[in-house]
Amino acid sequence: MTTLRDLPSVDELLQTKTAAELIARFGRPLTLSAIRETLDKIRVRFSSGSITVLPLHDLVLAQTDVLLGEWIKPTLLPVINASGVILHTNLGRAPLSDATIRAMDMVSRGYSTLEYDLQKGVRGSRLIHAEQILQKLTGAESAVIVNNNASAVLLVLSALANRKRVIISRSQLVEIGGGFRIPDVMKQSGAKLVEIGTTNKVHLSDYEEALQEQSALIMRAHRSNFKIIGFTTEPELRDIADLAHRAGVFVMDDLGSGALYDTAKYGLIHEPTVQESLAAGVDVVCFSGDKLLGGPQAGIIIGRKDLLDKIKKHPLARAVRADKTCLAGVTATLLHYLKDEAEREIPILKMMALTPKQVKGRVEAWIRELGRGEVVEGQSTVGGGSLPDESFPTFLLSLGVESSDKFLKRLRMQNPPIVARTVNDKILFDPRTVLPEQEGALLVGIKNVFEEI
Ligand SMILES: *Cc1c(COP(=O)(O)O)cnc(C)c1O
Repeated sequence: MTTLRDLPSVDELLQTKTAAELIARFGRPLTLSAIRETLDKIRVRFSSGSITVLPLHDLVLAQTDVLLGEWIKPTLLPVINASGVILHTNLGRAPLSDATIRAMDMVSRGYSTLEYDLQKGVRGSRLIHAEQILQKLTGAESAVIVNNNASAVLLVLSALANRKRVIISRSQLVEIGGGFRIPDVMKQSGAKLVEIGTTNKVHLSDYEEALQEQSALIMRAHRSNFKIIGFTTEPELRDIADLAHRAGVFVMDDLGSGALYDTAKYGLIHEPTVQESLAAGVDVVCFSGDKLLGGPQAGIIIGRKDLLDKIKKHPLARAVRADKTCLAGVTATLLHYLKDEAEREIPILKMMALTPKQVKGRVEAWIRELGRGEVVEGQSTVGGGSLPDESFPTFLLSLGVESSDKFLKRLRMQNPPIVARTVNDKILFDPRTVLPEQEGALLVGIKNVFEEI
């Protein structure tokens, strides 16, 4: 009769050629623990009667191989974004420019002047990087880069308004996505939230009234992925800033997207720019590095030097500081703007600038290559919490398939995975968000799916 004693031992298995190959591929400690876990599972199954025959060496090691494969399977993979959503938050927002990638690569490979003063040969500060470029670009007195914009907002409020009143309009108490709620972040910073106005209307007199009591800040938050239309009023930022300054109160603006460029150029509505906020008299402006700016994940804080000095010294600044790759990447992306080459170099701006005719040409080339599909009109969107409801006319590759859900799933199982969308049982691919160097892989992926189905 078979008993568990017939199961090969770890030592026996390790003597085999197959185990040696596994060790070469996965390393000894990981292979050992996978062999042990495989044997444990077999014992449990055998004891419970769900298997009656014990596997031989080869089969045990084949199961070990599968287990090892599952253990090291990467979860963060590059994908082809054919959805037409340019700043797709779930797909990693902005793809980076070549110069940005090179800059990040360079500081990662070796040592750098992250916190080192070359002139003096002593410790320097990481807070100086990109400051000069941001000063030149925006005219701000001072700047600092942190890990992301959520932490930028938290840091500014903590440094300038802890235990103090912060006035904000109810029309701006929004949730941005990923659980980032403006009122919650304000509370987290220790600021005392003072809500004024109503959801659709806030008047200058509401601000005036709230300023009767000693306050630290007026905050303005960009509504991002939310739009209020119809019977609405909101005072001009300039008027709010004037009022605040007369009362000795500062104004911070959480711009979210942080466009340095006028998006109206691409036929979209005008997104408030960083420069406009400063020109309106705002004292501190925060925005993201990986939204409309088109760089790596970062939070950028710019504004008055005395306030920025306070922000930089706050203990939370250390907790949310940017790492060297982020600093190198943001600097390289900002440099594109400074050198007036942003539209030529920054991928998301190139995507926005594509004309419908150019997009159509790409769809037609895909159809020739695939030998199927048709060109249809559609819309691409910006995404990333910017410009809600705004879209650009585009052309799409449309493929008729039997089961769109099944087809989309097969597309996601390709290497690299392909993310597309479906309307009325047609699968739609938007060339606008497919990087030129991914076109070959996209077409191979689509052909594979037709063969698999
Ligand atoms: C996106 C956004 C944030 C959060 O920025 P992250 O860079 O994602 O941390 C904060 N405020 C506003 C208004 C936003 O749009």
